[in-house]
Amino acid sequence: MSAIIIDGKRVSQKIKDELKEKISKIDDKRPPCLAVILVGEDPASKVYVKNKKLGCEYCGITSLHYYLDENTSMEELLQLIDKLNNDDSVDGILVQSPLPKHLDEKYVINNISPRKDVDAFHPINVGKLMIGEPIFMPCTPQGVIRLLEEYNISIEGKNCVVIGRSNIVGKPMSILLLSKNGTVTICHSRTKDLKSVTKQADILVAAIGKPNFVTADMVKPDTVVIDVGISRTENGLKGDVDFENVKEVASYITPVPGGVGPMTIAMLLENTYKGYLEFYNQQV
Ligand code: NAD
Repeated sequence: MSAIIIDGKRVSQKIKDELKEKISKIDDKRPPCLAVILVGEDPASKVYVKNKKLGCEYCGITSLHYYLDENTSMEELLQLIDKLNNDDSVDGILVQSPLPKHLDEKYVINNISPRKDVDAFHPINVGKLMIGEPIFMPCTPQGVIRLLEEYNISIEGKNCVVIGRSNIVGKPMSILLLSKNGTVTICHSRTKDLKSVTKQADILVAAIGKPNFVTADMVKPDTVVIDVGISRTENGLKGDVDFENVKEVASYITPVPGGVGPMTIAMLLENTYKGYLEFYNQQV
């Protein structure tokens, strides 16, 4: 039997509708606000930023957009971040990655206030996540958890295998699965006999960036397969999973597009709302 297709578009729409409803009920304060900074002309980044803006508009979140020239200096960028850090009407600050080569991304992230770091990339937020006291949840991994929850797929006691160990996806994904009591294995480019590990998975998360990398023979029957990968190919967007064949083996599977992707923005909007609530809680 073919796998159940996990519909990230539907779930993300539901989350956005819930947020919209909550935000529409705010009548005595300003609405939440997200500031997005884009440096340069990267076409994919422009699409991501546009989608974030549309998401904000839909939910009633004020979106401030800063489109900076490719040659913007570190000093100019840090000045803008500093201004936004100190602006009480801004709840979230996001600097779209990748930055042009002359700008040190790590240094830039370190300068965003952890209380406004809605991407949860700041070392303080990464550390807090590690010890189970997160301020913000990392958007893409949290989007995966929400999809599993929405489909009543329990993580506790399951063998969870994550392929990929990046700071943005693989590592935080593993921590979140662990926090839900999964037994987690992280695989990466140096893993030996990858297939023997992926075959043990009850829940398999692919975050590699190589189209069709995960094939049906790497997946045991009834595994839940989550495809985080997005690669732009001449045949459109492709995930890391050979969807057509793996769906015949898996119990649940996310498509690309329409799986994890839309969840990332929904989680970003939720984080902005969370930052907003925290701001007003601190004023009391
Ligand atoms: P990355 O390049 O930083 O990391 C890729 C990881 O894959 C590395 O840790 C590497 O060890 C592992 N890898 C590479 N080749 C491998 C191999 N042969 N065997 C096993 N592991 C291997 O990428 P990333 O930022 O983690 O992103 C991964 C993918 O997820 C990309 O396609 C990216 O576009 C996508 N992504 C999607 C979303 C979303 O919203 N859906 C968000 C972020 C990233």
